[in-house]
Amino acid sequence: MSDNDGKKTLGLRGAGGRPGNVKQSFSHGRTKNVVVETKRKRVVVPKPGAAKPTGGASAKAGGDPSRRPAGISDAELERRMRALKAAKAREVEEAAERAAAEKAREEERNRRRAEQEAKEQEQREAEEKARAKADEEDRKKRETEEAAKRAAADAAAAVAAPKTEAPARAQANKPAPAATPRKNERDQRQNRSKARDDGRRSGKLTLNQALSGDGRRQKSMAAMKRKQERARQKAMGGSVEREKVIRDVQLPETIVVSELANRMAERVADVVKSLMNMGMMVTQNQALDADTAELIIEEFGHKVVRVSDADVEDVIADNDEDDGDLVSRPPVITIMGHVDHGKTSLLDAIRDAKVVSGEAGGITQHIGAYQVTTDDGVTLSFLDTPGHAAFTSMRSRGAQVTDIVVLVVAADDSVMPQTIEAINHAKAAKVPMIVAINKIDRPAADPNKVRAELLQHEVIVEAMSGEVQDVEVSAITGQGLDELLEAIALQSEILELKANPERAAQGAVIEAQLDVGRGPVATVLIQKGTLKQGDIFVVGEQYGKVRALINDKGERVNEAGPSVPVEVLGLNGTPEAGDVLNVTETEAQAREIAEYREQAAKDKRAAAGAATTLEQLMQKAKDDKNVAEMPILVKADVQGSAEAIVQAMEKIGNDEVRVRVLHSGVGAISESDIGLAEASGAPVMGFNVRANASARSTANQKGVEIRYYSVIYDLVDDVKAAASGLLSAEIRENFIGYAEIKEVFKVSNVGKVAGCIVTEGVARRSAGVRLLRDNVVIHEGTLKTLKRFKDEVPEVQSGQECGMAFENYDDVRPKDVIEIFEREEVTRTLA
Ligand code: GDP
Repeated sequence: MSDNDGKKTLGLRGAGGRPGNVKQSFSHGRTKNVVVETKRKRVVVPKPGAAKPTGGASAKAGGDPSRRPAGISDAELERRMRALKAAKAREVEEAAERAAAEKAREEERNRRRAEQEAKEQEQREAEEKARAKADEEDRKKRETEEAAKRAAADAAAAVAAPKTEAPARAQANKPAPAATPRKNERDQRQNRSKARDDGRRSGKLTLNQALSGDGRRQKSMAAMKRKQERARQKAMGGSVEREKVIRDVQLPETIVVSELANRMAERVADVVKSLMNMGMMVTQNQALDADTAELIIEEFGHKVVRVSDADVEDVIADNDEDDGDLVSRPPVITIMGHVDHGKTSLLDAIRDAKVVSGEAGGITQHIGAYQVTTDDGVTLSFLDTPGHAAFTSMRSRGAQVTDIVVLVVAADDSVMPQTIEAINHAKAAKVPMIVAINKIDRPAADPNKVRAELLQHEVIVEAMSGEVQDVEVSAITGQGLDELLEAIALQSEILELKANPERAAQGAVIEAQLDVGRGPVATVLIQKGTLKQGDIFVVGEQYGKVRALINDKGERVNEAGPSVPVEVLGLNGTPEAGDVLNVTETEAQAREIAEYREQAAKDKRAAAGAATTLEQLMQKAKDDKNVAEMPILVKADVQGSAEAIVQAMEKIGNDEVRVRVLHSGVGAISESDIGLAEASGAPVMGFNVRANASARSTANQKGVEIRYYSVIYDLVDDVKAAASGLLSAEIRENFIGYAEIKEVFKVSNVGKVAGCIVTEGVARRSAGVRLLRDNVVIHEGTLKTLKRFKDEVPEVQSGQECGMAFENYDDVRPKDVIEIFEREEVTRTLA
């Protein structure tokens, strides 16, 4: 249908030999000319009722007198011509009318379109209704219009008919129903209109379409417009107004921007933009504090629901214990006092066994704990702390493990600075004290002087009519030890210490270390419940399943109850002293809590780090005009060493300079340590640990100094010297190479030989060597042999294989790393 048919019709007519201009006007669009042409065709049709478009034949007949049918007189011809003229004039008139009608219709259409658009602006809910209504109207109007048009055309035709039909009839000698051409014209017009409509895809329902009965209704114009509008808005992106859903946004203490956006169901970009408007330049991965996040949530119109960060820890929340379940437990005792007043000796004497001898320099580098039973059958748990730092750091982590403090004061000495510190710690922790006046065997012993001095520090002993028990003892002779234990037992009775051994265990980490061969090991003092083998637990930021429990005598045990110190194996990482251990029901819970704590700690560090680096440095520049601060980082092989170093560091300093330990920890020096050191311009001190490969390269890149030590005194001396600006040239170690052990061979007469590849630098026979396992120093010594193939060589270069054996040391394993170093004189560069 449509255009094609129209063209065909026109073409036929054009070929019919009518003057070209007629054809031209026709082919130039559906104007009035078209109508004129059609009309003419109708008027001169010679054979009414011709099946095919009759215009062709009629045009031929009317338009070319030479082809007029035979037997027509001139008069007749003239009459016909006159009639033709009249018809033409009428046609012009009619065409004008139609044009006017068309125009009116167009106007009407425009008006309706405008109306429709206005309507579309209105609420969308009413849309469906509106559309239905509009369509209805549309159709009605169209119908009315069509009817009106038809009526007008009919009327016009009726006027013309008498004039034209008569001659036509006379000429054709048969009735020429006016209906035929009119119908044709109407059909054509309708066809054209339909073609036009189709082209515009107006979707309007024409009468023809309506009558055609195919039932398939095209979409209305309004629907098309809506569709277009939707597409446009979609393309413009998001200006579509959605109905706002107000959400309850769960807000923890810190939240990452992207997660905040997620919880509000808003776009991250919008949240970032909003933060920028508040003057905060953040990325989507940055954490926000709850207060900032709350402002954002409110700005987006959502509801804030503050949740505690600790919600995840609810599973280990202390369930209030039923008094009936409580049974008495042994007291936990910490011995404190000034250095050399005899703490270790006293602990040894009490345990009736010497602390494992052979610790470098006799310094107690590890925290331990043990239990003793008095002659009266009372069990006491002793913590062996190397100083007060551990006590305070444990307290600051919320692990108050100590029930009673035994304050050791040497009878031949006086109350010293650390004695006062110990008193203050005990008081701050509200832990009762028992004074042990030691070294009573010494001739210079003057216990009353000690009692009097203690009085000055508000420690009133029983002998001075106070409430603090005091016992004169000698760690060497054993004098007064039983009295001391009795005093402790008595104090413990007064305290009425109780715990429920039936519940899930909770304990505090006394000491933790990464043990070669056993993995991470934590000494835990159980506080509540009973820890059993196979229990799943979370401890600080670590979690695990109890693989083995080892008591203070080195024996494996199946369980440990309240106040029992026990070594726990089966952790996934090394916790820190003071971390609390809790048994959970499932591993998933334990992992979730550990992960949450790790994240929380990270966020806290990040927040603190930002504040320290910039603000504090600025502050330092402003305030500390006189006191310079020397920041350092400490990493050690075990917690005890780290604590001892930190404690020593805190004592260094005078009015001009102070040492500040930014961070201390256990294990290899990592990249994050280097990052922190770089940010604060601090050197990193490694005690029996090494930096891992990535940390080493980062340190090189960023110019962070890493110094390694095996003796605490050396480390302390260096820092002291640096702090007092006395650093001068020194003999220092210089690492010249690293080799990795690939295989270990047993060679008779030589012992174990390590088959290595030199991975860095050079291996030199004359140099010193250290054996590292997991970046922790296992052994230090010299080489017995350095072989390349079968030959003894002085040196092996990087990338080459070699055989090495240590002097007087055999415990080498594949994957161990051999560090080769030389001593040389260098200028000290420490901070
Ligand atoms: P700590 O630093 O407090 O642990 O003190 P130590 O236990 O290492 O003792 C320091 C020194 O004092 C050691 O040489 C001990 O032998 C000595 N010492 C400790 N207790 C006594 C004692 O009761 N009598 C005597 N005569 N010497 C003692």
